[in-house]
Amino acid sequence: MAELRWHPLIQDWVMIASNRQGRPQMPKDYCPFCPSFGNVPDYEVLEYDNDFPALSQNPPEPDEGIANDFFKVKPSYGKCEVILYSPGHTVTMPELSYDHMKKLVDLWCERFNVMRSDEKIKYVFPFENRGEVVGVTMPHPHGQMYGYSFIPKKLALETASAKEYLEKPATACSVIR
Ligand SMILES: [Zn+2]
Repeated sequence: MAELRWHPLIQDWVMIASNRQGRPQMPKDYCPFCPSFGNVPDYEVLEYDNDFPALSQNPPEPDEGIANDFFKVKPSYGKCEVILYSPGHTVTMPELSYDHMKKLVDLWCERFNVMRSDEKIKYVFPFENRGEVVGVTMPHPHGQMYGYSFIPKKLALETASAKEYLEKPATACSVIR
């Protein structure tokens, strides 16, 4: 089950994705992101559709059973992509060469433009989680890109604040008492 649920206290949508609980713990001697195992082609950098997406362009019907006047649900429309930085199983981003890093940035831009071409996607979030402590099940270095069908409230506020600051005439440092 994957759906968006309305959080009535913060008045924002929250992703619920129980299908992600079924993610496999990889055997120690297998890595689906190393080209040598045949799951991915030879690559330098690669976009890979998330096998356990929290958001998808063909989302399942939300669970109407839990919805009422107070608890609203809607389909978890969007996109979840995995971005593979390097075929090397233990390489970290600071170890990438300048040319390799440029290929990675170009791939981020390309995927951003592909996601934004879907008019139902309103916000694209590239990020990286590292380490078991945050629930990463794949040791092979990778980042992700999520395309949301809504702009999270906090992001909308930050964007509005940045715009307000930009449009404000420059003043000397002000102290609010
Ligand atoms: Zn690997």
